[in-house]
Amino acid sequence: MITLKCPHCGEQFDFEPVTRLSPEELHEKELLQGTLNCVACPKCGEGLNVPVRIIYRETESPYMLVQEPHPLPEAQMRAMAMQLDESATNAAIGQGVQRPIVRLVFTRQDFLEKLYLRRNGLDDRVIEFAKYQLYNGGTEDGQLSQAKHRLLFDFSRVDANTLSFIVYNRSNGRPIRMLEVSRSEYEALVEEIGSNAELGQEIDKCLPGRRVDADALGNNMPREQ
Ligand SMILES: [Zn+2]
Repeated sequence: MITLKCPHCGEQFDFEPVTRLSPEELHEKELLQGTLNCVACPKCGEGLNVPVRIIYRETESPYMLVQEPHPLPEAQMRAMAMQLDESATNAAIGQGVQRPIVRLVFTRQDFLEKLYLRRNGLDDRVIEFAKYQLYNGGTEDGQLSQAKHRLLFDFSRVDANTLSFIVYNRSNGRPIRMLEVSRSEYEALVEEIGSNAELGQEIDKCLPGRRVDADALGNNMPREQ
């Protein structure tokens, strides 16, 4: 339970935020509507969005997805990811259980993307590597740039043959267009990364603390000559 103070009228009241999610208790509707941990002031009705860390866990095959409430400077995000991965690994070793897959994100959009990739059985490392390639000349018109655009997996449009991405303008956050990647291209990448140990290691090295996103890859991959 935390005590909140309404920024509008100053009223103080208690609120129990949702901080733990699981496949059984996903609060999916609130997640999608963006209303999770939103509360109205009991006195004036002002809506408050309560910033808390959210942890989604799957136990059957150990997986942990953490969303911090706000983005931080890059170095801090990297350090936090490494720390989280290390503590989760140490906890697993201590308990003699399988090391979990750990992911750390800093926006609700990224949280949902990871969640739905997981639910669709897609490997986020491969998806982020695909984005990285798309940013670096992998589109037909070559019009994507990592500095200007941001790609997000479109989980509302998943089918047997195609994976869809929405291209956002980074400066104003607006969606610009759709981009489709065929399943066979995705499978080819899974195969390529799985069979090329050097590439797999290169990708892991570029994702410190397993902060799996294309931005981290873009910042860390060696530049092609
Ligand atoms: Zn109020």
